[in-house]
Amino acid sequence: MIDSHCHLDRLKLEPGQLIGDALNHAQTLGVEKFLNVSIDLHHFDQLLSTAHSDERVFASVGVHPNEMEQNEPEREQLVQLARDPKVVAIGETGLDYHYVSEGLERQRARFRTHIQAAKQAGLPLIVHTREAQEDTIATLQEQGAEQCGGVMHCFTESWEMAQQALDLGFYISFSGIITFNSAAALREVVKKVPEDRLLIETDSPYLAPVPYRGKPNQPAYLCEVAGAVAELRGWDLDEVDHRTTENFHQLFFGLVDHPGEDV
Ligand SMILES: [Zn+2]
Repeated sequence: MIDSHCHLDRLKLEPGQLIGDALNHAQTLGVEKFLNVSIDLHHFDQLLSTAHSDERVFASVGVHPNEMEQNEPEREQLVQLARDPKVVAIGETGLDYHYVSEGLERQRARFRTHIQAAKQAGLPLIVHTREAQEDTIATLQEQGAEQCGGVMHCFTESWEMAQQALDLGFYISFSGIITFNSAAALREVVKKVPEDRLLIETDSPYLAPVPYRGKPNQPAYLCEVAGAVAELRGWDLDEVDHRTTENFHQLFFGLVDHPGEDV
């Protein structure tokens, strides 16, 4: 299986434990590759070196909508950083109106910059969206995001929004939230997403699934997400593994040539 969205440089490790140890543990449970997702640019070198030092790890480049950066990222800068062969996506980017009521125009401008960078770099987008359904879809449409495609990560919105994203060629990725008691409506969305557009992720170290809820999340817990998807779709775990792995390869390795990657 592949953890399509995690923040490895933020994992809460045990004393003496290395990122590689957490990945080895995940691998013993069947999680074999990891997309280490960028939130800001001042830690990007570190994020990229994690990907360079471990062949199981890939990276993205981008600035989270809620992240305060001294300098706004520029399109050319993102495209330049994305030239590294280990970078397979632009993001995470998007719109999040949950915690903020101001700076929304800055968020929207930053989102547009990322979409333009993804189109220019020929890489898919990793989109974070929360309480900004209409603006997220409108921005993706207005900027022609169907030309780069991407994923709505840690999806928690309605089936209507999922459909609009699917219409733009996007994939839908589910996290441990689908195991939460309160997520009954979201579990219905998990059942409906076409099998060739479904991805799974942990979003570690955030949002640990049941039965680890409240604890720091780690890539090994992807098994809980996969188990929940299996139950909801009536698949066995092998089928979840097979389909989501194939979808990951299609989305993140389909558009660019990654030497050494046997798809
Ligand atoms: Zn994330």
